[in-house]
Amino acid sequence: MHSPPVIVCFRNDLRLNDNSALNAAVESGAPIVLCYVYDDSGTHFRPLGAASRWWLHHSLNLLAKDLERRKVQLLIRHGDWVDELEKLAVSINAQSVYWNQLFDPHAHKVEEALHLRLQAHGISAHRYKGYLLHEPSKIRTGSDLPYKVFTPFWRRLSQAITIPSAQPLAKIGNVYSSEIDSLVLDELQLLPGKPDWAGGMREAWEPGERGAQQQLDQFIEEAISDYASARDIPSIAGTSRLSPYLRFGEISPRQVWRTVVNELSGQSGLQQGADAYLRELGWREFCYHLFQLQPDMHEKPFRPNLDAFPWRSDEEVERAWQQGKTGIPLVDAGMRQLWHCGWMHNRVRMVVASLLSKNLRIDWRVGEQWFWDTLVDADPASNTAGWQWVAGCGADAAPYFRIFNPVSQSKKFDPNGDYLRRWLPELAQLDSKQIHEPPTDLSGLAYPAPIVDFKASRQFALDAYNVNK
Ligand code: FAD
Repeated sequence: MHSPPVIVCFRNDLRLNDNSALNAAVESGAPIVLCYVYDDSGTHFRPLGAASRWWLHHSLNLLAKDLERRKVQLLIRHGDWVDELEKLAVSINAQSVYWNQLFDPHAHKVEEALHLRLQAHGISAHRYKGYLLHEPSKIRTGSDLPYKVFTPFWRRLSQAITIPSAQPLAKIGNVYSSEIDSLVLDELQLLPGKPDWAGGMREAWEPGERGAQQQLDQFIEEAISDYASARDIPSIAGTSRLSPYLRFGEISPRQVWRTVVNELSGQSGLQQGADAYLRELGWREFCYHLFQLQPDMHEKPFRPNLDAFPWRSDEEVERAWQQGKTGIPLVDAGMRQLWHCGWMHNRVRMVVASLLSKNLRIDWRVGEQWFWDTLVDADPASNTAGWQWVAGCGADAAPYFRIFNPVSQSKKFDPNGDYLRRWLPELAQLDSKQIHEPPTDLSGLAYPAPIVDFKASRQFALDAYNVNK
């Protein structure tokens, strides 16, 4: 008699390598069923933004092709995550469902709900880890409290991390052979219709597990040695650009960590870059640590210090910021990079977020939502923590008086104006002195005057913070 099948549900782990849930299911020896449930109901999870949906489509497509080569089908379902998995498991008399946990605090409740539903049918649930380097709620201070400041968190975490050895690509031997209903990927309608705004993203990215590995290899070979200083220069490929792959789990942070540590061990010249890089992975962990403490982080600030801040509502100003038409070159270049490729350099993210929330006094949640919709790496923990950090209301936030001066930032990190010229062709003819702050009286320059007076708006924000502190 055949043993009943086991289901593996892919989530933010769209890879075959180093996938604990997949490996465990294969090792069980039972016939395997692989599925992905797209849940945009908003009941359990924040629905994905448009750029993330684009990424997800391609990532699922490539995963399905990889599986097809191994003669396994990836089932696609659409609906409530718990209901769909329960239905599927019951319909095929599955013995177990396997998945890798998410560390979204809401996901914990949802996973628990599925576990109970399955249990009621006598189906077991097997949960694994791999999205983070360490379980975020397990890092505690000496007084058994969560951390609210990054540096001591990182000190503690970096001692606690133990990376298990690599789990080789699972050999999927026993596949469930009866036919099961599945949608075709296009039915999820994840791609843009008309207009097709994804051309820049197609040029910039190759989603999928192979794309992730290539990106990591290239970064190790070409950029990690200078990472500590080059990571702040937006005109060059000085960072790993692994964020969307980590977001969707096409590569695991353990794989990245292991590769960096193994490749660089003993190469003293590369140590500084490697240490700086691993520390950035630590920021990702820290954002998830904070997320456990504040589950509704994208709506509620960590600290209430800005509750009475005089936010403005001005659609025209918002639109100018979104479209990269503020007349402030570094901000406009960043916002156009974001629109074109679904990604923006970290240094520029900080500058555009500071301008919106501090100088333009538009609520940081408006900016966070725009990033959520337009970033291919939009992450429920890192995006919100990044915005709260810049706005000054996060746990470990930049002090309220730190207001990035976009012109000084531009001169310091893009001295020749290469990044500005790449994204603002209308300024290409300006020399490297003028380009950071284009003169408003230049005839024929199709570029707007600055939307805000930096000094006056900075002072206004500081006064408002002081009153409301
Ligand atoms: P690298 O410099 O190569 O870093 C390696 C990895 O470390 C990144 O891929 C990322 O996973 C992690 N990382 C690096 N910096 C941070 C950080 N400050 N916080 C959390 N993780 C970090 N990152 C996201 O992944 N998703 C987001 O939605 C997101 N939104 C942000 C919003 C704002 C306002 C700010 C200021 C930062 C945001 N970040 C976000 C963090 C950071 O900008 C990106 O992780 C980074 O730019 C990704 O590029 P990279 O992969 O080349 O980074």
